[in-house]
Amino acid sequence: MAVVSEDRNGTLIIGASQAGLQLAVSLRQLGDTAPITLVGEEPHPPYQRPALSKEFLTARTEFGALAFRDPSYYADAGIRLVCGERVGELALASSGPPGSGVAGTTYGRELPFDRLALTVGAAPRRLILPGSDLDGICYLRDHADAAGLRSRLARAVSAVVVGGGFIGLEVAAAARALGVSVTVVEAADRLMGRAVAPLVSEFYRQAHQRRGVEVRLRAAVSGFEGEGGRVTGVRLSDGMLLPADVVLVGVGVIPRTELAEQMGLECDGGIVVDARCRTSDPTVVAAGDCTVRPHPMTGEGRVRLESVQNAVAQAQTAAATLLGRADSEDGTSAVPWFWSFQGDLRLQIAGLAAGYDAYVVRGNPDDERFSVLYYRRDRLVAIDAVNCPADYMAVRKALALGTDIAAHRAGDTGIPLKALV
Ligand SMILES: Cc1cc2nc3c(=O)[nH]c(=O)nc-3n(C[C@H](O)[C@H](O)[C@H](O)COP(=O)(O)OP(=O)(O)OC[C@H]3O[C@@H](n4cnc5c(N)ncnc54)[C@H](O)[C@@H]3O)c2cc1C
Repeated sequence: MAVVSEDRNGTLIIGASQAGLQLAVSLRQLGDTAPITLVGEEPHPPYQRPALSKEFLTARTEFGALAFRDPSYYADAGIRLVCGERVGELALASSGPPGSGVAGTTYGRELPFDRLALTVGAAPRRLILPGSDLDGICYLRDHADAAGLRSRLARAVSAVVVGGGFIGLEVAAAARALGVSVTVVEAADRLMGRAVAPLVSEFYRQAHQRRGVEVRLRAAVSGFEGEGGRVTGVRLSDGMLLPADVVLVGVGVIPRTELAEQMGLECDGGIVVDARCRTSDPTVVAAGDCTVRPHPMTGEGRVRLESVQNAVAQAQTAAATLLGRADSEDGTSAVPWFWSFQGDLRLQIAGLAAGYDAYVVRGNPDDERFSVLYYRRDRLVAIDAVNCPADYMAVRKALALGTDIAAHRAGDTGIPLKALV
């Protein structure tokens, strides 16, 4: 049971999910005894999102198993959890301690604070096209979205997934596992184009097609057709109609910058933060999917990372910053990592491949077990490992240690990669 000093307003964390909860936990781990209020718009205590597009859809996991903490944790740790309330108003005080202020929720609750953290995440990008308000057109970000999609997929005959990124392909794999006929429609000329090399995109196109998913590249959606208010098909710009009784739109997310903008904080495709998670007002921190931040590997330019690892690392750093521990370890420069499990195709990524000028393929894509190691100016910068966890771990370790794996030896599957680190 945490001892909390009640004579202060303490920290207000807006957004009760991966980053927000981690920030609260880290404050307590760092010995903070001031009150902590964690407020979130969703009606549930914080839970893990990744399963929502994977085993939750196929009913191999139930929602109860996704909670990060037992309900008793919050009271024991002295964290006041306010669920189901959106913060609509937010202002820093013009007088009083720097960084203090008050937030107002849509239920009229006032939440005064001495310190403020924004962990508000991102929302799905919406398609505005003829028919886009028909019933059965789904997006996927939270439990309510996933529960709706799951019950529709359980009754569906055919589904169309708009967007061939991670979420779309994970949903396509889950829908196939449920026996649904699935078409993925992607506007670009390859799958997961922003994240992986063309060779990996092509592997995934073929692998999903082998599993019965139809993949249509360079295909633009012009609208949705329906009957009685329910979607019945997706119209492509070449006139083709793809039948669908459920549609999942997975075309990226938009960071939730509305509160930061209201406060006059700098935003540029996300809330701009520095390596210590300080916003343009250094008394206010932000972490997770809502932020754009210095590139963790080159330090040049900014990136917005949407991953569990990034949300956790930034939240840990933001907590240390709020407590004035600038000397603590800087988790945000850690090697980024990510996973996307699309049925039995387990993709693991470490590092950032952006700007790579060479790559080495290790193993044979035809075996559905291979890795691609990316190099920039002769230095290892990232790996995509498909069903190869040992390769992934070896590269993650090499990048963390700042050591290299020589490109001319990396492709030799006779040598375990970890022996080359
Ligand atoms: C379906 C799905 C699958 C994923 N799979 C993977 C994966 O396999 N691997 C991986 O690394 N990452 C995955 N991710 C990404 C990962 O879940 C996110 O990077 C992570 O959740 C980011 O955490 P966050 O706390 O920054 O933001 P979020 O999880 O988006 O949380 C932000 C919270 O803030 C709340 N909020 C926003 N504005 C307000 C307000 N004004 N007042 C109150 N509350 C507010 C929102 O309701 C939300 O609950 C997946 C994401 C999704 C949606």
